[in-house]
Amino acid sequence: MNTGLLCYCRAGFEPELAGELTDRAAEAGLGAYARTERGSGHVLLLGEDAGAMSRVLPFASLIFARQKLRLLAELPGLDPKDRITPLMEALAGAGRHGELVVETPDTDEAKPLAGLARAFGNALRPALRQRGFLSAQDDARLPRLHVCLLAGDHLLVAQGEANDSSPWPMGVPRLRMLHDAPSRSALKLDEAILTLLDAKERESLLREGMWAADLGAAPGGWSWILARRRIRVYAIDNGPLADTAMATGLIEHHRADGFSWQPPRMLDWMVCDMVEQPRRVAARMAEWFANGWCRRAIFNLKLPMKKRWQETRLCLDLFEQQAGRPLTIRARQLYHDREEITVYAG
Ligand code: SAM
Repeated sequence: MNTGLLCYCRAGFEPELAGELTDRAAEAGLGAYARTERGSGHVLLLGEDAGAMSRVLPFASLIFARQKLRLLAELPGLDPKDRITPLMEALAGAGRHGELVVETPDTDEAKPLAGLARAFGNALRPALRQRGFLSAQDDARLPRLHVCLLAGDHLLVAQGEANDSSPWPMGVPRLRMLHDAPSRSALKLDEAILTLLDAKERESLLREGMWAADLGAAPGGWSWILARRRIRVYAIDNGPLADTAMATGLIEHHRADGFSWQPPRMLDWMVCDMVEQPRRVAARMAEWFANGWCRRAIFNLKLPMKKRWQETRLCLDLFEQQAGRPLTIRARQLYHDREEITVYAG
């Protein structure tokens, strides 16, 4: 069976992504199985009805997937002198595409293939245009064509829909580390805001004059990201905050325990990056909502244990049950997340 979904993930998290995809497909009554290798940075979910699999697994709902594509073909054992002819044959009936992305999974083994991916893309683009498989100019209304190089002689061919996939090659957003950011962690909150909120939400939910709490704030990267948006922050941590964070003039540092500190009034935001057991964090986050201490939150759940997909499910269920009111919950393992996921609730 060669029809199904191709999803990318952080290398090492293939079992989590495979578990997420197969559990959810099974719960929707679909026959599907995952094919993957540990460390390969991708998972194939194969089954008879790729359309149904795609519908029950929208990209925005996936936690461990950085990218979600419809698999068109797998081309192993290619002749390196002519990869284009078999690719064209595989595309018969696939229609027209608005963009070509030639990429690799995000793994150390695939890094040497980056040059080949670029060169192959440059050779392939005009050939696709000539055959009518690619529009003359990039066109975001048409599906994107993805060619994923697993090796010099092994390709996966897939399609991404603009409203059901990541817009970035390899599913990796390009974010620049700003030079006076107090920590690399700042990139996590930056990425969370970019990927877990849409453009309208970013504008309406993060406004000057709002109030936030940052639990586990030191050295201050997340507080600094909020302060850059002119949001005032109670930064809770026994550790010191960087001068660049304090220099914003919008951050109030409280040396306190993030599990017992309470805000003086309802806040617009609570963010939390405390390194603690995920169940304990999830329960405390739920308390904040149940007590009406914040309108929205972005928090990280650290997952150093083995059964990380099961733990994720358990923590999110616990959070949802204990939060005491209906919430929109979105979760994702971000590119800048290591053994952890980031959750938005509001
Ligand atoms: N988000 C921060 C940034 O961008 O700079 C980095 C946070 S760091 C990963 C985790 C922080 O959580 C540490 O500074 C640690 O002191 C703090 N922490 C852990 N347990 C805590 C607790 N119970 N109360 C307050 N802070 C806690």
